Amino acid sequence: MLENVVEFFKNLPDKHCVECGEKIDEQSECYANTCEHCNTL
Ligand SMILES: [Zn+2]
Repeated sequence: MLENVVEFFKNLPDKHCVECGEKIDEQSECYANTCEHCNTL
């Protein structure tokens, strides 16, 4: 199960939030490794 998740993210070119794993919209270059949701916490 966990390995599948790793492969899932490895195969995706999009950035994902390190907090929740949500896909990060690249509309803002200010975001480090967290999504808009976690970034505003
Ligand atoms: Zn997040």
